[in-house]
Amino acid sequence: MSSKGNLNEALAGVLSGMDVIQTTYPFDLAHKGHSIDVEVEECKPGKVEEAKVEEVVAKLEKTLPRVKDLNDASFAKSKEPLVKSCKCYTCQNYNCGYLHHLLDVKEMNATILLIIHNLFSYDEVFRVLREPSTDLDSFIHWYLINC
Ligand SMILES: [Zn+2]
Repeated sequence: MSSKGNLNEALAGVLSGMDVIQTTYPFDLAHKGHSIDVEVEECKPGKVEEAKVEEVVAKLEKTLPRVKDLNDASFAKSKEPLVKSCKCYTCQNYNCGYLHHLLDVKEMNATILLIIHNLFSYDEVFRVLREPSTDLDSFIHWYLINC
């Protein structure tokens, strides 16, 4: 895959048969002060109606994955982690308010902490996809509805 490689593009690539994805997306997001906002723990794929792969790929390519912009002043007093169910170092130790503060004072640790979270989240989506019990079609449908 040789595009930005956001989660939607990567999943569209997987549906189209790609096996390897090389991307700077988690880093690019972090440098802008953004974090991936996907509750992977909520993923409980079930049986859903069939859809044509082409339609799903087209929808993935037209939409952008959910992200949080930690530069936004609305996060200034937030005591919440980036993602409640996330098990990454950043979410286990810091909250959105602190990350907003680090970005506000241009502290480089903000980018490092966001990279840790974004890489973890990106990998978590694909970890769920690799699980033998995960049905690809139902996962993609769940993702399109929730993310
Ligand atoms: Zn996290």
